[in-house]
Amino acid sequence: MLRTVPFVGIFAAVILVFVAGCGGSSPQPTTTAGGDSRPAREKLLIVCTTPMVGDVVRAVAGDRAEIVTLLGPGVDPHLWSPTRSDVLQILGADAVFLSGLMLEGRAGDSFARVGQSGRPVVRIAESLPKSDLLLDVANSSHFDPHVWMDPILWAKTATSVRDALSTIDPDGKDTFATNTAAFEAEAAKLDSACALAVGSIPFAQRMLVTAHDAFGYFGRRYGLEVRGIQGISTESEASIADIERLVNEICERRVPTVFVETTVTDRAVRALVEGCAARGHEVQIGDALYSDSLGRGGSPEGTWIGMVRHNAKSIANGLGGRG
Ligand SMILES: [Zn+2]
Repeated sequence: MLRTVPFVGIFAAVILVFVAGCGGSSPQPTTTAGGDSRPAREKLLIVCTTPMVGDVVRAVAGDRAEIVTLLGPGVDPHLWSPTRSDVLQILGADAVFLSGLMLEGRAGDSFARVGQSGRPVVRIAESLPKSDLLLDVANSSHFDPHVWMDPILWAKTATSVRDALSTIDPDGKDTFATNTAAFEAEAAKLDSACALAVGSIPFAQRMLVTAHDAFGYFGRRYGLEVRGIQGISTESEASIADIERLVNEICERRVPTVFVETTVTDRAVRALVEGCAARGHEVQIGDALYSDSLGRGGSPEGTWIGMVRHNAKSIANGLGGRG
């Protein structure tokens, strides 16, 4: 078991070593030079941040690893900071997988320090070619981190997961390659379904208004204009002027539906609806979209494929198409 040490200075107190494979039929504690002991395990223990990262790592790892996802359904990764319990899980893992591109912006220091311990810390979205990424319009020195909204782009991250797992667990290399190919095939089917759904929306109504700017990659892939009331990150609040500008645009374009998100307060979306009503344009609120988290485990939206499929269907239905 992990030692119990005070939270302050925990990273300095624990010297971690990476143990490749972690196999063995009779688990024995693995003791490091610093006295930290982690149990030898039948399987790799991989800690992931968001449910979307957990989904792709689970798909590639198959049954060769135990996957722990730190952020539960509905938790906003932009605002997430690791709790003491999260830190202990991170320290006990054989490898840590993040989305990256500043998505888990408040946790960056923690993971940087884990990386210094010598264990793999893999930022899967940062493996994508820069030319595939969108810039944050409000801060052009940052990329938009919401890459899981484009199925083909997100499928590319599976190759970085495959490569990292193959280094950690070379005996599983063939399994990881097979699982990656299967994931890419499923992503291609999802891509076709999304294209069909969005393609059914009347051209003039292809404008997606959501609580925050998480759908840029989805819009680029399928030909939708996107407007988020808040920016790329939920850390900054929308101003009254921002809402007024959007009210004007929604009224001019006669947008029929705006969307709330499961991880973001609906306050600003409701302000939009009221603003439009005051101008004589009735706009409805569509199904809640899954932007930065999946649905509950066991539900169709509890997987990345189910999440994106739900979003495409809800957007199409809300904007006059057929989901
Ligand atoms: Zn977001």
